[in-house]
Amino acid sequence: MPGEYRGVAVTEVACELDEGSLAAHFIGLEAYRRTRFIVVRRGQHTAIIAVEKHQTADGEDPLFAPITAVTLLVEADDCAFVVRPNLDTAVPTALGRAALEDAPEKRGVVVQGSYGHISFIVDPAPLRLTVREVVPPYPPKLYDQTRRLLEVAEHLPPITLVAEVVELTDLARSRPSSEYLLPCRGGGVTVGAASTFYLDERPEHRPWTLIGCERSQQIHHWFYGERADQVDICPRVVPAGPTGPTGPNLGAVLTKCCLFEREIVVETGQVVVPWGASLAQISEALTAIVGEWEPSWAPA
Ligand SMILES: [Zn+2]
Repeated sequence: MPGEYRGVAVTEVACELDEGSLAAHFIGLEAYRRTRFIVVRRGQHTAIIAVEKHQTADGEDPLFAPITAVTLLVEADDCAFVVRPNLDTAVPTALGRAALEDAPEKRGVVVQGSYGHISFIVDPAPLRLTVREVVPPYPPKLYDQTRRLLEVAEHLPPITLVAEVVELTDLARSRPSSEYLLPCRGGGVTVGAASTFYLDERPEHRPWTLIGCERSQQIHHWFYGERADQVDICPRVVPAGPTGPTGPNLGAVLTKCCLFEREIVVETGQVVVPWGASLAQISEALTAIVGEWEPSWAPA
């Protein structure tokens, strides 16, 4: 996709949309200094071309310069024109999603979005990013924060988000007990008919099973002088659930860990943020993910 929408011009033509006809039409015409691509429309048909312009000997960049060469990037048969009035075409994730949703069979998709701005994407192949976490709360917080960031992330490549959530109650059922201790009352979780206690209320000690992370276990030790029987819910160590992605196209994983307070850790297959990470920390993690999984990505 183009790095800046202002590099994209849109023109209606009467000629055929093959490269020869487009070259005959455009070569010699003046193009604006920033124009590098032209979305060419003829009725309902759309093609995308790249243009080169005359370079002056003194290296000056005049306001307009004659077009000297035309390359057909996407021919009309492979190209769709999509109108999405609420989509910011400067955001690669939004552009990639629109292309795959509205014209999955086309190589090139031109999108007219918010503010009437037009951009395009060719051969969209978003990075698959799985956000793994434990619910409740609903919606899953890290997933929801990441989704909101990607709605405005102009600097990141197209990313497809996948939620892989593990239910706290399912984790509890993996270790049957008549008494469970949960980290806090906030989520309002109960497990069947079992009694539930909440660590943040510092209840009197019981022979319970802790449904919590290592940090909760440390707090338990601080309160009661011993570690509890435990089901570890930390999504950094929880294996992929049955609904999780499998196979080689796993992509990247973003998850969180109770033991991290500030750091963002890149490790095999995943990037980990602190539990309760801020949007700024998640943004930093997304940049790290792209550095690991899509290091060569750059707009055209
Ligand atoms: Zn952890």
